[in-house]
Amino acid sequence: MEKAVNDQINQELYSAYLYLSMSAWCEGGNLPGAAKWLRQQAREEVGHGLKFFGFVNDRGGRVGLNAIEKPAGDFPSLLEVFEQALAHERRVTESIHALVTLANSEKDYASLPLLQYFVSEQIEEEKTASLLVEKLKRAGPDGPGLLFLDRELGERAGESE
Ligand code: FE
Repeated sequence: MEKAVNDQINQELYSAYLYLSMSAWCEGGNLPGAAKWLRQQAREEVGHGLKFFGFVNDRGGRVGLNAIEKPAGDFPSLLEVFEQALAHERRVTESIHALVTLANSEKDYASLPLLQYFVSEQIEEEKTASLLVEKLKRAGPDGPGLLFLDRELGERAGESE
């Protein structure tokens, strides 16, 4: 279980890295709203990593940090950014579910409340990403719809700059 949670820390930090990379691409592509949204998302992912980090420590385990994989840096479109984000979140959901299965098989019931929090969190993450994919499909690859959506993304709360 300790090894699996350590892997999860790595996956959450990789998520932050991926969203930061997407944010940088948006900055370069004149999509400041999406860039801001993705930076905020990256912050949330660091927060997830820290929750698991604290959990390992609280349980008397040992945190072992591994190298974070290099994320993609180039994307064909904003739609593709969020399609990749959705695909990524689905993988994260699978790994959270695998942690629940493992915790149950090891009778590690103390891990279940935190894992349940993340099960619910992933429902939200997938819902948000798939909604954005649908909106981007409707907005089309260019033009006023995309600009409108970028402005909407820029209104995401939580960032102070
Ligand atoms: Fe996460």
